[in-house]
Amino acid sequence: MQKRVSGAKNKMCSITRESVKAFLLRNTFVLFTVAAVAVGISSLDSKASGKMGVRAIVYYMLTTFIAVFIGIVMVIIIRPGKGNRDSPVSSSGSIESVQAADAFLDLIRNMFPPNLVEACFKQYKTLYKKTVVTRNITVMVNASESINTTEFSSPGNFSTVLQTIEETVEETVPVSGSSNGVNALGLVVFSMCFGLVIGNMKQQGQALREFFDCLNDAIMRLVAIIIWYAPVGILFLIAGKIVEMKDLAQVGGQLGMYTVCVIIGLLIHGLFVLPLLFFLVTRRNPYTFIGGLLQALITALGTSSSSATLPITFRCLEENNHVDKRVTRFVLPVGATINMDGTALYEAVAAIFIAQVNDMDLNFGQILTISITATAASIGAAGIPQAGLVTMVIVLTSVGLPTEDITLIIAVDWFLDRLRTTTNVLGDSLGAGIVEHLSRQELQNQDAEIGNSVIEENEKPYQLICQENDSIRHRNSETTM
Ligand code: ASP
Repeated sequence: MQKRVSGAKNKMCSITRESVKAFLLRNTFVLFTVAAVAVGISSLDSKASGKMGVRAIVYYMLTTFIAVFIGIVMVIIIRPGKGNRDSPVSSSGSIESVQAADAFLDLIRNMFPPNLVEACFKQYKTLYKKTVVTRNITVMVNASESINTTEFSSPGNFSTVLQTIEETVEETVPVSGSSNGVNALGLVVFSMCFGLVIGNMKQQGQALREFFDCLNDAIMRLVAIIIWYAPVGILFLIAGKIVEMKDLAQVGGQLGMYTVCVIIGLLIHGLFVLPLLFFLVTRRNPYTFIGGLLQALITALGTSSSSATLPITFRCLEENNHVDKRVTRFVLPVGATINMDGTALYEAVAAIFIAQVNDMDLNFGQILTISITATAASIGAAGIPQAGLVTMVIVLTSVGLPTEDITLIIAVDWFLDRLRTTTNVLGDSLGAGIVEHLSRQELQNQDAEIGNSVIEENEKPYQLICQENDSIRHRNSETTM
């Protein structure tokens, strides 16, 4: 420890003006890029709608991470998937901590696949190789014990000698490797970038856009046909799992505990955390606000779809809770698509549950990976029934868990889907209330501007207004003809 402190001190002392200058020169490009990004972002912030958007995104990210955190804490405390093993394998120690860092770095590496075709069936994975290293070390021994020695005398009668001995140690070194499985994260990142580029190409990208729209339609039609075989497929998948199970009662119990775990997590998030956040920001009673949302929440429970609930959510927020239309129209459609706290919580719990069922102990890095991918998967999930079950694949593959084990949780998913959709809708609605409260200044400014323009309009000379009205009438008569 002392060595490290003194090493750091030496390093600090060795920093001179010249070395700082050299560093800045070497990294000019990177520094300019960072500065350019910052200046880009700040100009976005200057627009009122940009500010509203930024607030909404910050709220979405914050609440989704809190939801994932609650889910992870619940599943670690309750351990619904614990098997016969009493004490889990310790995940402390140096090798484990290296693995934790590698698991996280693998996630980042997998985001940028070098080969798209390969990404369809392979993903990057750090492997560990054991190597035997031989090194010479010099030790001090008594002269009487020495064999080949360099002798040197010391005061008194003792004589010590320096002896060189060979030591063989086994070291574990990380090497780059791969594992079988779809690199879903890499494909998602690529598709997002590609989609953004095509979108920006406007007219030039039209052909490609139409191609992908057409491809999407064709695949949806194929899915619509295949879906009719789903009951048979699921029947056999579950039957296969049941046959594999050694103790059906134990698995039934595990599934029950998993369900309880998800429900407790959703209740904590929906009834305590989100209302608390709402209260802290707005200083209003969150439960009165939730009371106005009951119809939307019941619809979400019934339909299992945040998108299908959207019209009711609009009505509840605007008519019962009197949230400004400019906020609801701006925030709710985005929220229904990307803000899914319930889904994120459920995905994190489900992934760790599957790991527990497989007697696999996850280290910190893997749990961190699950929390990031669960957030990404919830953003990617559509607001339709059981969409979260599909994006679960991203979470499971990111930490090397068997994707076929999703069938374990299918049995209870129809029920949990309803509860997580209700949480999703609740999160979007409270978010709209929070964003409205934080944006009141901009909204008032907009109101004032509109008021001014109405006054200016009223002050226009009578003749000018008549001319404008005439031209509008003329245009209307042209279009009706
Ligand atoms: N059904 C959920 C929703 O519409 C998505 C999911 O499956 O988690 O919000």
